[in-house]
Amino acid sequence: MKYLFLLAIVLGIVWFIRRPSASKKTQQQNKADGSIDMVQCAICRVHLPANDAITGIKGNYCSHAHRQQHESAS
Ligand SMILES: [Zn+2]
Repeated sequence: MKYLFLLAIVLGIVWFIRRPSASKKTQQQNKADGSIDMVQCAICRVHLPANDAITGIKGNYCSHAHRQQHESAS
């Protein structure tokens, strides 16, 4: 009877642990879906969202000034 009681507790703990891990997995999936791609400016090395970055021939830039600076440099 004592072991049956312990078994019930262990099963309860396992069930309790598995539930949060399932929701945690969902949160990680949400985070992956909602994450923003970050790019680095080729001049000042600042990180910015890819949506806000200016894409040039030689890379990504934080501003048009840095794009012109980099592309006219060489
Ligand atoms: Zn920059």
